[in-house]
This record gives sequence, C-alpha cells and structure tokens, in this order.
Amino acid sequence: MKTRDDYLALDAADPLRGLREQFSLPAGVIYLDGNSLGVLPKATAARVQDVITREWGGDLIKAWNTADWMHLPERVGDKIARLVGAAPGELVVADSTSLNLYKVLAAAIRIAQQDAPQRKLIVSERSNFPTDLYIAESLCQQHGFSLKLVDSVEEIPATLNAELAVLMLTEVNYRTGYKHDMAALTAAAQAAGALTVWDLAHSAGAVPVDLKGANADFAIGCGYKYLNGGPGAPAFVWVHPRHTDSFWQPLSGWMGHAAPFEFTPSYQPAPGIRRYVCGTPSVIGASALECGVDTVLAAEAHGGMAALREKSLALTEAFAALAEARCGEYGVYVVSPREPARRGSQVCLALKSPLQEAGYAVVQALIARGVIGDFRAGDPARLDQVPHILRFGFTPLYIGFVEVWDAVEHLRQVLASGEWQEPRFNTKGAVT
Ligand SMILES: *Cc1c(COP(=O)(O)O)cnc(C)c1O
Repeated sequence: MKTRDDYLALDAADPLRGLREQFSLPAGVIYLDGNSLGVLPKATAARVQDVITREWGGDLIKAWNTADWMHLPERVGDKIARLVGAAPGELVVADSTSLNLYKVLAAAIRIAQQDAPQRKLIVSERSNFPTDLYIAESLCQQHGFSLKLVDSVEEIPATLNAELAVLMLTEVNYRTGYKHDMAALTAAAQAAGALTVWDLAHSAGAVPVDLKGANADFAIGCGYKYLNGGPGAPAFVWVHPRHTDSFWQPLSGWMGHAAPFEFTPSYQPAPGIRRYVCGTPSVIGASALECGVDTVLAAEAHGGMAALREKSLALTEAFAALAEARCGEYGVYVVSPREPARRGSQVCLALKSPLQEAGYAVVQALIARGVIGDFRAGDPARLDQVPHILRFGFTPLYIGFVEVWDAVEHLRQVLASGEWQEPRFNTKGAVT
C-alpha cells in the first residue's frame, strides 16, 4: 500500500511540475474543478490591464489596427488549433460554446438537406451537456428534424443508418468523464453517410485531440475550462476545410462578412473560418483567453499534450484507486471508466445506499476543507443507473500527486466523521 511519501516522491520526479508556477492558486486550496472553471494564470491580470490602459485607454479606436484587435479571433484560434490537431486558419475564437454549436449544427443540417434530404435525424447522448441538447432541439424544430438520444454508448452503432444526418457528441462526457473514440465514431458515421459535430468542452487542453487525423466535420469548444480563459471566456469553432465555404452559417453578422467596412447592405461571407465570427470580438475576453491558452502551450517544451495526458491519466488513476481503497467502506465507488483510453481528465465518484443522497453535502463539506470539486445531480427516479455525481477534474498543468492523496484523505475524514450531515452543508446555492 502506497503512502503519502510515495506521492510526494512522484511530484519530485514530475517533469511538468514547474508549469504550476504559471498560476495564481490560493493557498490551502486543492482545486479539482478546472474542468468547470480553470485557474487564473499569473500573466492574465497584467495582460488585461495592458489591453485596458494602453490599447484601449491610449489608442482608443485606433487600437483595432494598432493592436490588431480585428484578428484576435484568428490569432488565438491558431494557438488553440495546435492543441486540437487543426491547421492555422481553420479555427476561430468567438461567442460562447452554445452559440458556436448553433452555427455548426445549422451548417451540418444545411449540408445534409442539400446532399441527402431524406436524412432528418440528429443523434446524441441523453447524458450530453444540456445546452447541447437544447440547441439541437431548437434547430430540429426549425428544420423539421428530430433528435434521438441514446442512453449508452453501445446504442450508437445501431443509429448510424440511412436516416442519420448528424452525430453530435461531446468527446468527453461532462458527467462521467467517458471519452469517446472520436476517430472510430467519425469514420463509422461518415461510412453511414452522416456528418459529425464534436464538442471539445472537456477535451481541449485536457486530452490530445486530432481533429484532422480523425477527419471530423465540425468541432466547438469552451475557453474557460481546461484552457484557463476566465469566466465566460470566448469559445472556439473549427470546421473542416472541405465544409467551411459550403454554407454561410446562420448568424451572419458583419464581422463574418468578407468586407465589413464596406458596409454593404447584403451579406457576403468572408472566405474560410472567419465567416463563423458573428459580431464584434470580445477583445478583453479573448486577450485573457490567450493567456490561458499560452499556459497549455507552455507544455510544448516538455512533451506537449502527450506529456500532459500521461500525467493526467496517472493522476486520475491514482485518485480512483485511492478513493476505492480508502473510502470504499463508506459506499464510495468510481463512475468514470478505469480503462485509460476511455477516460477524460476527470474522475466521478458516487455513493451507495444509504448515502445515495449525500453527494451534494459531501462535496460541500470537502469545499469547506479547501478541496474544491463539484456536484452534478443524478436522476432522482433512478439513482442506481444515473447516480448523483461527485466530480473531480485533474488539470495536470497545476495539480500534483500529493494533492490527490490529500483530497482522498479529506474525503475519508468527511465520511468517517459524518461532518457532511451538518446543516450548513445541506442547503443548495444557485450554482452547484
Ligand atoms: C461547459 C460546456 C458548455 C458550456 O456552454 P456555454 O455556452 O459556455 O455556457 C457547453 N457544452 C458542453 C459539453 C460543456 O461541457
């Protein structure tokens, strides 16, 4: 049985350890929620200050040219492209994940309508992130399509048939941490004549992604999770070059126009991915996002995403194994896949009866101890199949092995002492 000293030794031998210095982490906190809101990079405050005082304050409207604000979507997009297996000029930063999903799903629907009008089905997972399902629902209503939701990964192959227009999946499931085989599912969907839309919200900066290698059709992702862009950071959108110019996405705003400053009354889309920009870029937000993306790119000098992935898998496996070994007697079990290839950068735990309902309070008690994870509610009618989830994200840029040990020890103490039963841990805030 390993001891805390063994985990200290793992940290001492970790070649990525120095990357943590890029972040401003509060003392006494074990932050296992970078999958929901990444940590503040040290460079961000000064960069945002500079954008505000020098670029905006000093140059005023000239800064669109002098600071090249106009091309922030492409500049930061090219950096993110390096993390997801895309080429420069194929990816832009814009809007939110929800809005970008609207754009690419609408484009996929339009292509399907042109090429295969009999295909009117979009398939996704019932456990996909709700905003993805809501956006798909809306587009289905507009276009007379229907949305079919599967309850397990095993059901997907049977849906890849002559009715399928779009397979829309989040590569790493936000609830369970299950990681789909993007290359295999893309190939299978395309062999069935369908298009694929991949949400990389829990992938970009967390696991190696190879959009071009997988031959994906469309992808979107989030700026404020593993990319450390800050709350409400702009999101990103990628379209395979074979589709980019085939349809002007429905949010045809002036910043995606071929010549916005000619102010012509009719829309002419910019060539390439720029047409996926709608309105004026969020300059301060995109500048902060660039600092966040740079923290991930800093790993390129140490083996890049492959090295981050190796450490992430070691962290998540250690957490899962320790949680089972040290907290199993209190009913803790691991929901996330143990098979490395199928696991993202998070570990989800659940509690067995009689503590099935205690997850929320246990997470609150952990947060009070400085161990920040989060809670995702299950299906109250069938907690056995869809349990309440205690969710812990491991960002290898700033999480170390001894924190894994200490987090599990806190969990053990919370359960052993019963402190989670205190009333203060049992009232719900607006955000869980
Ligand atoms: C976090 C997340 C989002 C967030 O969407 P916003 O538009 O930024 O609110 C969307 N989809 C998935 C799968 C996510 O995990």
